[in-house]
Amino acid sequence: MRQSLLYHAFGVREGYDYQETIYQDGCIRFVLSVRPDWIRCPACGGKDIVRKGRRYRELQTVPIGLKPVFLVTEVPQCECAACGKRFEAAPPLPRPMSATPTGSRRLSKPSRGG
Ligand SMILES: [Zn+2]
Repeated sequence: MRQSLLYHAFGVREGYDYQETIYQDGCIRFVLSVRPDWIRCPACGGKDIVRKGRRYRELQTVPIGLKPVFLVTEVPQCECAACGKRFEAAPPLPRPMSATPTGSRRLSKPSRGG
């Protein structure tokens, strides 16, 4: 998978670097990380950033064939070395470009009485 294809096919914006593809459970996951040079303090605009950790978020996007496709994006948790502001760096994610019917399979939550 080329990064340019990711950009074109899934509308992945600038700010992300393609890391790897994971095939699991019949799904395809494209793992994206935030570009270090994209991260900037929202308070003072400083680029001297200390990373405190990270989490990941998943976004379902356009399927490939019959396989569901997810974009897994890193969300670095950062602290500004200049002003001490803590923030999460999350470049805007693309929205799925084609509408896919999602009614075929739904997650049903078992309801339990208290
Ligand atoms: Zn700052």
